[in-house]
Amino acid sequence: MKQALRLLIIDDSPDDIELVRSSLSSQGYRVESTAVDTPMAMRAALNRQEWDLITCDHAMPGFNAPAALAIAKELCPDVPFIIVSGEIDLNLAVDLIKSGARDYVQKNEMMRLGPVSERELREARAAREHKLAEEKLRETQELFQAIVENVGDLVAVLDTEGRRIYNSPSYKPLFREQDIRPGSLSFTEIHSEDRERIKEIFHKTVATGVGERAEFRFVLKDGSIRQMESEGRVIKGADGKVSRVVVVSRDITKLKRQQAELWEMAATDFLTGLPNRRYFLAQLEQEMARVHRIDRHCASVLMIDADHFKQVNDTYGHAVGDSILIHLAVVMRNELRKIDAAGRLGGEEFAIILPGADISAAKIFAERLRKKVAGTPAAHEERVISLTVSIGVAAMNGSDKNGDAALVRADRALYRAKEHGRNRVEIEV
Ligand code: GH3
Ligand code: MG
Ligand code: MG
Repeated sequence: MKQALRLLIIDDSPDDIELVRSSLSSQGYRVESTAVDTPMAMRAALNRQEWDLITCDHAMPGFNAPAALAIAKELCPDVPFIIVSGEIDLNLAVDLIKSGARDYVQKNEMMRLGPVSERELREARAAREHKLAEEKLRETQELFQAIVENVGDLVAVLDTEGRRIYNSPSYKPLFREQDIRPGSLSFTEIHSEDRERIKEIFHKTVATGVGERAEFRFVLKDGSIRQMESEGRVIKGADGKVSRVVVVSRDITKLKRQQAELWEMAATDFLTGLPNRRYFLAQLEQEMARVHRIDRHCASVLMIDADHFKQVNDTYGHAVGDSILIHLAVVMRNELRKIDAAGRLGGEEFAIILPGADISAAKIFAERLRKKVAGTPAAHEERVISLTVSIGVAAMNGSDKNGDAALVRADRALYRAKEHGRNRVEIEV
């Protein structure tokens, strides 16, 4: 299949037109040509369709090569323009080439026209492809710019040492200009406690080519701290080696706070604000683990149950009952040391872990708490409402399988306290 050649011939002589056509046809092209010999006809032809090649006689009655070249440069600067003429003054030919004609072929050497055309078509194609590639690159760059400059995320392009090559504009409000300029090390704004760990992750990313998610803290120019989450991705050079690392970081300060709040909500009893059963039991297991792990570490656990609480509800109503449970939680809390942990196990039942307390210390504490509750009636509207508690105490033993075992003993002691008349402390070793 012959290659099609859309050829515009600017010439007035039918013989010469045929000469151009036939010499390109014999060169292997399927020539689709049009001939024109006036500026108007040339413009019309150029506006009508696209052309691969223009050949042009240098002098015609109403037209000439310089004028045709000017039109070609205006309307189709990328189409090769070749002068085909009889005798041509060398100076004129040089001038024409300086103004953009690609070559000139004299009629007595028409066999050059084929190779010259071929060369020009090849170069025109290469130039077109180059231009396309450049356009594509520019588009890509514009796209990158548009994305990077419009996301809230922080985008940094770093060299393999972690020095900055590029920072997205979102860095500007957070850091001082001089701290984020190109060439500066990108680890300086990371919180000193996180810095070494992040450096390690960065160097690992460079070494393996595989990015990793990381959480760390940024220290901003105003001294405030932001929780960040980042992920690095590598860019490899032509040699296949990592040449750049693109790090995208996201501010997760708010997310972290919300997570903490959620976690706290999930761990807190909504009525009293004390740790709920689930969280208390988790703390109990932690304490049990310490008893197992640390030689001579002792701890005790208390189960506390409000006495005749049903009566309180029946007499004053459930809402008052609730406020008395809150009152009870406050009294309990005030008796605790910082290291003690209280929780609401459910209903009017509470528990306390006393780390470091053996059974006798725990019993003393329990007695003090019992008296405190009994001596601190709740104030409700005009009334004071007295309340007592029964308490069961158990030591957490090294031989216990888990925290629950100690809690079961405390519960048994509590049962005895109830049996023996309430407002009492009982222990079970
Ligand atoms: P005892 O001295 O034997 O412990 O008597 P009690 O009445 O406290 O024991 P019981 O376990 O039979 O009843 C507990 C009552 O506590 C039943 C319920 O109405 C009340 N209660 C449990 N949870 C709540 C609560 O969240 N709010 C209120 N107001 N009352 C509660
Ligand atoms: Mg009760
Ligand atoms: Mg009860």
